[in-house]
Parts: sequence; structure tokens; C-alpha cells
Amino acid sequence: MSYEHELTVLNPATEEVVATVPAATAADVDAAVARASKAQARWAAVAPADRARLLRRFADVVDRHVEELARLEVREAGHLLGNARWEAGNVRDLLAYAAGGVERLNGRQIPVPGGLDITLLEPLGVVGVIAPWNFPMPIAAWGAAPALAAGNAVVLKPAETTPLTALRLAELALEAGLPEGLFQVLPGHGPVAGTALVEHPEVAKIVFTGSTRTGRDVMERCARQVKPVTLELGGKSPNIVFADADLKTAVDPFSFLDNSGQDCCARTRILVQESVYDEVRELLADAVASVVVGDPADEKTQMGPLISRQQLDRVRRLVPSDAPGLRGIAPDGPGFWFAPTVLTGEAPDSEAAREEIFGPVAVLLPFTDEQDAIRLANDTPYGLSGSLWTRDIGRALRLSRAVKAGNLSVNSHSSVRYWTPFGGYKQSGLGRELGPDALTAFTETKNVFISTEGPAQ
Ligand code: NDP
Repeated sequence: MSYEHELTVLNPATEEVVATVPAATAADVDAAVARASKAQARWAAVAPADRARLLRRFADVVDRHVEELARLEVREAGHLLGNARWEAGNVRDLLAYAAGGVERLNGRQIPVPGGLDITLLEPLGVVGVIAPWNFPMPIAAWGAAPALAAGNAVVLKPAETTPLTALRLAELALEAGLPEGLFQVLPGHGPVAGTALVEHPEVAKIVFTGSTRTGRDVMERCARQVKPVTLELGGKSPNIVFADADLKTAVDPFSFLDNSGQDCCARTRILVQESVYDEVRELLADAVASVVVGDPADEKTQMGPLISRQQLDRVRRLVPSDAPGLRGIAPDGPGFWFAPTVLTGEAPDSEAAREEIFGPVAVLLPFTDEQDAIRLANDTPYGLSGSLWTRDIGRALRLSRAVKAGNLSVNSHSSVRYWTPFGGYKQSGLGRELGPDALTAFTETKNVFISTEGPAQ
């Protein structure tokens, strides 16, 4: 298969061309990794306090460019301006948090007879980060910030639809004084630049976020080189609503409409106790009908477009217009629009109820009791996040244990904080990002034994 030499970045709200950028070849990846290797050797020798200072300076430079980055994100990804500002701020916060971890990245001293045993936490070398288009800035930083803080170099391949904010971040890194070659961004096609990065023998670890299908392929390629990999993959997360919950808050439609549903944590399976099913159905009907869909740069807009024609076609295939459900309204086009939708006639084992759609679509399903809720919540190949709504603390704790997912919220829809761990069970991924152990994931542990025995008498 042949690939274009240039990537054309479209504004998903208008289909206008925002920019074209060259697509990296395998040779470009080779050259970038060679530069990164050289830069990493010097970076690993920089004193921790100086490394931390440079990363804090990078955070400060990002802070001064939050508005510019946010507006670029609106144009290339169709994100709401307010959300895009949060995303750029998340990059800043992550860099500052990772900088705070540099001086705390310590090995241990373990008591052993006849000597001293110490563990050293050493950087891996060059880390490859492959980012998706749904949250281009934060997810790039989730991998890059802790990897850099732990003494590694990073080569980042953004999604081909959203390379611009990542390219700008690389410029800002240089402006902040990070060494040349330490943080490089290579836009390109997944099967070309992505594969070359994954298969490069000098790339010591891959951090991948995207679909479970591509993630599986990346993992297989890493396995051939016994290369560590962190995978953040798809989700089909439950929103479990018991009759005793605050129903209006529990079924807030932005729990699945945020980012036009292009969110791996979206609560797209609304599981409702049958005694309140009709009430919830009415609440959702009103809520989706009143969502303001349109220009993402307008501060009054509540939901923007999908990322691409390809994604729109995928959502349309999975959600035919005659499928029974509750619907809002969306512009016709140009732009990649899909109306907020709650499907009400799906069987729990249908494709729409079990597979990630990645559009503004949820399914509404009734359950009878706690056991039925747990069974339905776990009845997908995924296990990323989920919400539980009840005023019964015992039940909340029982469900928190029983639902197989990496990130659960009780009486809340929030999933992501940069200082708490994030990752999936089952086919939602492997490993954890963010949180207090984020830097350690980018180190090797070396154990050194030093004999204290004197010379034989
Ligand atoms: P992909 O998983 O294919 O893309 C994610 C990233 O991987 C992109 O940077 C992509 O590059 C890159 N990539 C693609 N193929 C390879 C490869 N062979 N080797 C290395 N890297 C590769 O997702 P899609 O963009 O195709 O989206 C399809 C579906 O995936 C969505 O509908 C959604 O369900 C799911 N998805 C989930 C995400 C999540 O956060 N969990 C994020 C994005 C998508 P390129 O852009 O060039 O294809």
C-alpha cells in the first residue's frame, strides 16, 4: 500500500485545510532515534535538580501558550475551546508534576549478609510514544513528561489527523531550553512511521494509546524484541444507576457526550435499575434534545464535531438512523457531525452495546438487582472506567470490588487526575500511566551487591 508524503490536516467543523505537514518515513524515524539516543546519553547525566528545573521551565512556557495551543486544538481536532484550554493546562500540570518526581526517583538499600545491596533506577533510553487524535495534547504528555523526567529521550508520533499541537509542543520544549533531539515529534502514517518506531531496535519502550486492534498489533511487534509496552486502549464503560441515586446528576449526558463521545472513558453503557428506567429515559430524552451542537470555538457550544469523515462513517455504520433511540440535533455539514443519541432498543449483547463506538452515543439498558448490574457491567471485552450511583455505601463498596475496570468513580463521572494512576483491565490496556509511579515505569531496576568482606587473613 502506498501512503501520501504529506498529511493534510482538516478542521473537522468546516472541512477546511488547516495545514499540510510532511509525513515521516522509516528513514526519518531512524534519524530521529539516532539523534534521540545521543541526546539521552547527555540528559541522563544531568543532575536531577537541573533536569527538574528544565522541565519546570518547559511547564512555564506551555503555561504562557495555553491559549494559543487551545485555539490550535480547536482548529485541528474540533474540541470545544474550554476543553482545549483544560487540555493544554493538563500538559503544563503534568510537566510540573513529573519535574517534582525527578528528585524523588530513588533506589533502595536492602539488608544482605556480607555486603551492601543497592538498587539503581536507570532510564530506559529512547521511548517511543504513539498518540491518538482524541486528546492529542494530554495523551502525548502522559507518556512524554514522566519519560523525560526519568532521564529518557522521547520520539512522539502523533495521529495523522492531529499533528499540529504536538509539533508546537516540541518547539516550546526547545524554547524552554530542553536539549536538541531530546523530545522530537514525527508526524506520519501509523503503518509507516508508527511501525518503524515500534520495530526500531534502539527504541527501548513503546507507550501506545489507541484502538485495541492496533494496540494488539503493536504489542505483538514489541514481543518480538521483548520490548516493554504500555497500552491504553478502548473502553465501553458502564454508568450504573441505582434507584436511590440522584438521577439527574447520574445520567448527565456529558458523561458520554464530552469530546463528542471520542473518549475512552465515556460512560456509554447506561445501566439503570428497572424501577426508575422510565424516569431516566425521560430525563435523557430532554437532556440530549437540548444539547447545543455546533462551532467548537463558540463558548456557548456544548458539543463539537467528530474528528474525521472516516470516524463519522464508522459511527453511522454502528448507529443506523432508524435504530430506536432518543436523539438531539446536529448541523448537516460541511463538517463531521453526528447528533447526540441514546439507543433504547439494543440487546445487551448487540455490537452497539458491547463495542466502542467513539461517537456521541450511549445505550440504555435496564437491570434488576445488584448481581444483574455487575453481570451487565462486566459483559464487555473492555475494563477501563465506570461510574456507580447509589447512596448505599456498602453497595458502592461491593460494586467497586466487583466491577472489572481500572478507574471507577462513585457518585461522580470524573476519571482522570494526573496524580492518580490510570489504565485498563482486560482489553482496555496494559500497565498504568499518571500517578505517583509514572516515572518508575520508565526505568530499569539494577541491583548491585558490594561485598564488605575484607581480604582473606
Ligand atoms: P488507531 O489505534 O489505529 O490509532 C492510534 C494511533 O496509532 C495513531 O497515531 C495511529 O496513526 C497509530 N497507528 C495506526 N496503525 C499503527 C501501526 N500499525 N503501528 C503503530 N502505530 C499505528 O485508531 P484509529 O485512529 O484508527 O481509530 C479507530 C478506533 O480506535 C476509534 O473509533 C476508537 O474506537 C479507537 N480509538 C481509541 C482511542 C483511545 O483513547 N482508547 C484513541 C483513538 C482511537 P495514524 O493516525 O496514522 O493512523
